[in-house]
Amino acid sequence: GGKNIGFIGLGNMGAHMVSNLMNKGHTLHVYDISEEACRNMEKKGAKVYSDTVKLASQSEFVVTMLPNNDIVSDTYHKMVQDGVRKDTIFIDSSTIDPNVVKSVQKYIKSKGARFVDAPVSGGVPGAEAATLTFMVGGTTEEYNAVKGILECMGKRIVHCGDYGMGQAAKLCNNMMLGISMIGTAETMNLAIRLGLNPKTFMEILNSSTGRCWSSEAYNPVPGLVPTAPANKDYAGGFSTALITKDLGLASGVATASNTPIALGGMAHQIYRTLNSKGLGNKDFSIIYDFLKNEKN
Ligand code: NAD
Repeated sequence: GGKNIGFIGLGNMGAHMVSNLMNKGHTLHVYDISEEACRNMEKKGAKVYSDTVKLASQSEFVVTMLPNNDIVSDTYHKMVQDGVRKDTIFIDSSTIDPNVVKSVQKYIKSKGARFVDAPVSGGVPGAEAATLTFMVGGTTEEYNAVKGILECMGKRIVHCGDYGMGQAAKLCNNMMLGISMIGTAETMNLAIRLGLNPKTFMEILNSSTGRCWSSEAYNPVPGLVPTAPANKDYAGGFSTALITKDLGLASGVATASNTPIALGGMAHQIYRTLNSKGLGNKDFSIIYDFLKNEKN
């Protein structure tokens, strides 16, 4: 039957996730600091709250989909500091540091409730189509308890291990993505400068050993993949600001675990440069456009 579900963070991802939960017959109790985001969800049938304590008191599950470490941490501290329903399970689907997950989990547990990390991949289109992959960190019992709710928003719900392991999987995937996009952009740029036809070369790449998601589904050269952001002046898609955030988190956990990530670290610095040039809102495949204009 329909559950009472709290949802905090009604942005590009959260708004679609809330709609999908409502489509499956659940009652949604929502909060966002943006009035506009709240009104839009109210129109679709969600109950809007001005206070997360009250929201949590009405909810069997609470999902958070927020920008970063500090906002996630502050939100949970404010929401549960004066106590919480012991049967509520909190699910954070934001992309944050696995160490922040561990400390929030301890705090929620000290108040008597449960918490898991469940970051997602699939982007805004995946959120809209309810085809996200959820990477869950928690006990087997907790994974089983949240799986049904997450299935309303995604198609693959994977148990990655203990608290923080969902984030670990997410950060490792996004590090690979960030590196492979730069590799694709560099390679396409060189091929084109050497005189190869971009389409011919892309077809060779995509049927050869260099093939990857960035070269095939999301090629950064305009005019090759109709649905790719490269064809829309790099608008929409996955922002340079977000991949920079994810690579910063990967760099932090790599340093803390004494793990060499030469390419991940370099990719982080390259995307930071794009941000400092005012390209943070553009899709991260804009790295191709940047390289195209460089000569050295
Ligand atoms: P967004 O910026 O569109 O949405 C964030 C929402 O949180 C906004 O509506 C904002 O008003 C709200 N917010 C900010 N501070 C708040 C607070 N203190 N209390 C309540 N609400 C607050 O971001 P998004 O694209 O929806 O991403 C959300 C999270 O999901 C991020 O951690 C991001 O890294 C991750 N993520 C994003 C994508 C993507 O493609 N956009 C994919 C996977 C994961």
